[in-house]
Amino acid sequence: MRCIRPINFPLYSLLLFAISCTDGNPLPTGKIDPEFTLYVDRFVQEAQLRNVTVDMGGFSITSKNDFIVDSGGRHCGETSGSLKGTAVTIVTNFDCWTNASEAAKEILIFHELGHALLKREHNSATFPNTNIYKSIMNYVTLSDLYTKYTPDKRKYYIDELFDKNTPAPDWVQERTNSKEILNDSLINISGWEFIKPGDTPSFLPTFPWARN
Ligand SMILES: [Zn+2]
Repeated sequence: MRCIRPINFPLYSLLLFAISCTDGNPLPTGKIDPEFTLYVDRFVQEAQLRNVTVDMGGFSITSKNDFIVDSGGRHCGETSGSLKGTAVTIVTNFDCWTNASEAAKEILIFHELGHALLKREHNSATFPNTNIYKSIMNYVTLSDLYTKYTPDKRKYYIDELFDKNTPAPDWVQERTNSKEILNDSLINISGWEFIKPGDTPSFLPTFPWARN
């Protein structure tokens, strides 16, 4: 018997979450492929920083080279659960892993560990008036959530991963403290004018700082 509870979505980010129970092909338990150790350890550290206890009993994370394919498309990751534990599979081909940035690898692993170790399901909500996803657990895209250059975004998404009630970050709030520093006006120009160095542009008579 093999049963699979939802959740296969068409994903740009090539993710798949399926909780399956199977007595046909036993899931690996307690096996962590060395190439993922860095990210799993980091996940546990991030959990500890937030006083979240992670049960690693029966957990495994292994790799495969070919895309995971189902009716929803091609996927880079899969999480399966059984009574014995939870197994994550990460696709390590060029598109999913070899060519991915460190941040993208972390996001992919953390997303799957969110399923496997935090029992989180997908959440593809966006912040109001934006197309910014609220959670690393979204099933649409993971590619642009954060990079190594946006540590504030990384912190928010990892906070939210461990606590779905994390408040919206400042960088998605509407700006209300704007200050006008220059009120510039547009100049109507009927055509293009070629100007040599030293010439005074005929269409800029009122802006001394625009003269050379
Ligand atoms: Zn997922």
